[in-house]
Amino acid sequence: MPKDFLQGVQSKYDVIVIGSGLAGLTAANTLARSGRQVLLLEQHYKLGGMATWFRRPKGHIFDISLHGFPVGMIKSCRRYWTREIADSIVQLKHIRFDNPMFSLTTTFNRDDFTRLLVEQFQVPAEAVRGFFDTARQMNFYDDQETSVGQLFERFFPGREDVIRLLMEPITYANGSTLEDPAISYGIVFSNFMSKGVYTFEGGTDRLVKLMHEEMLRNGVDVRIKTDVEKILVGRNGVRGVRVGGREIEAPVVVSNANLKATIFRLLGEEHLDPSFVDEARAVRLNNSSTQVYMALKPGVMIEETQGDLLFSSTAPLFRTDLLLSRDITSRTYSFYYPRTRPGSDRCMVVSSTNARYEDWAELSEEDYQASKRDLVETTLDALAKYIPDIRDKLAHAEASTPRTFQHYTRHVQGASFGTKFEGLAVSRSLPEQVGGLYHAGSVGIIMSGWLGAMNYGVIVANDVDSYLMRHATDSSMVGSS
Ligand SMILES: Cc1cc2nc3c(=O)[nH]c(=O)nc-3n(C[C@H](O)[C@H](O)[C@H](O)COP(=O)(O)OP(=O)(O)OC[C@H]3O[C@@H](n4cnc5c(N)ncnc54)[C@H](O)[C@@H]3O)c2cc1C
Repeated sequence: MPKDFLQGVQSKYDVIVIGSGLAGLTAANTLARSGRQVLLLEQHYKLGGMATWFRRPKGHIFDISLHGFPVGMIKSCRRYWTREIADSIVQLKHIRFDNPMFSLTTTFNRDDFTRLLVEQFQVPAEAVRGFFDTARQMNFYDDQETSVGQLFERFFPGREDVIRLLMEPITYANGSTLEDPAISYGIVFSNFMSKGVYTFEGGTDRLVKLMHEEMLRNGVDVRIKTDVEKILVGRNGVRGVRVGGREIEAPVVVSNANLKATIFRLLGEEHLDPSFVDEARAVRLNNSSTQVYMALKPGVMIEETQGDLLFSSTAPLFRTDLLLSRDITSRTYSFYYPRTRPGSDRCMVVSSTNARYEDWAELSEEDYQASKRDLVETTLDALAKYIPDIRDKLAHAEASTPRTFQHYTRHVQGASFGTKFEGLAVSRSLPEQVGGLYHAGSVGIIMSGWLGAMNYGVIVANDVDSYLMRHATDSSMVGSS
């Protein structure tokens, strides 16, 4: 008999959360803490969504999306998770850039960027100050007409080198480009600039284990390998989900699945106004990624002078299409030293590149495998510039592609960072279409990444809590009597 991952599940909950990405986990935990009965359903055998890791024989362990996040994670983890989680967040102090325009190392915060821009790039100090102040004051309600490119042109006209320094890391962090609204850049850039780049000591596996334990303490009913097939809608709004052939009831469903998958696959457009359907259809997905994971032989160290994160490119100029091209010129290397997982004797390198789903989707199995091998080999060639004898030191290497991300998270087209800006309004207005149905997950660029997704989970949990309070007299609600 196959194992029943829903064994003992209740027939009703206050809230069902579909998906255990950081937004789903945080929404589930926040709601359980405020006394709600929460069921968390994850289709994968692991929790975490894109915040994940994998193991290979001989003790290799690779993180997928643990490259860096802003300092705000400390506060969010302390408030919405635990002190132990918050206290494990540490700074990455050596961020490097190496491209045909410049090579430098920075702590990636406002003071150091100001120093670099004024002294090395010879930009007038007033322009630098004006730019930082403008970016810091940006918020969600600002004008969305100005593009990132126009913002740069206003402060640094004609300075492609400056634009590259300011933009390249953010393009890697959330997929935003010069064509996106300036606020999607300004908010994320300022978050990083406040105090630099941070990571989680102990690795993603430790973080997700601690989150799982905390959810269990707060009473979340956590189920893996439970693929939600349908969101069920009744006369007065959402009424539950269908999963594994069962119907489970709840007056609130929070979907952490991809926004388009939530609307068009799990819900169905028959429940929506035609104008909303048009709006949802028009939402553009963000790009996907490829990665190459490289483990060095046990005990073989990388010089710490390589830094923690290296934005490396051979492209003469910074261009969005070059960043996405299958002919890779830009790679971000994360160097993981044994201190990432205290007690380990391993160094790892993960190379990440933004990528288009279309470049990988239609390949035959044979071409796909050949293309992955090529990705590994060309990455090792490129890395040899920084670690000349990398092939001698190497114990294991493999690649992932947009197809891999799609497979493991069900994200439409393997989108690494959800949707472009317009996705946020669609995500936020879903409950106006179907009462009790919420979406919490990477959308709108600013709500993606570890911090954005986690904070969006909190925002949606608060909305859900108010909704449940307004409906407290509804007799169908579990625990309301
Ligand atoms: C290669 C890469 C590198 C990245 N690097 C960084 C980084 O360095 N720093 C940073 O801050 N961010 C990074 N990110 C982005 C960050 O990881 C994501 O933005 C964030 O983790 C997304 O969280 P989420 O809540 O939107 O959900 P997701 O992580 O997208 O998870 C959604 C979950 O829903 C589940 N699900 C979907 N459909 C169903 C269903 N029908 N039933 C049940 N479960 C379902 C999926 O299995 C998945 O677990 C990176 C992303 C990628 C791909």
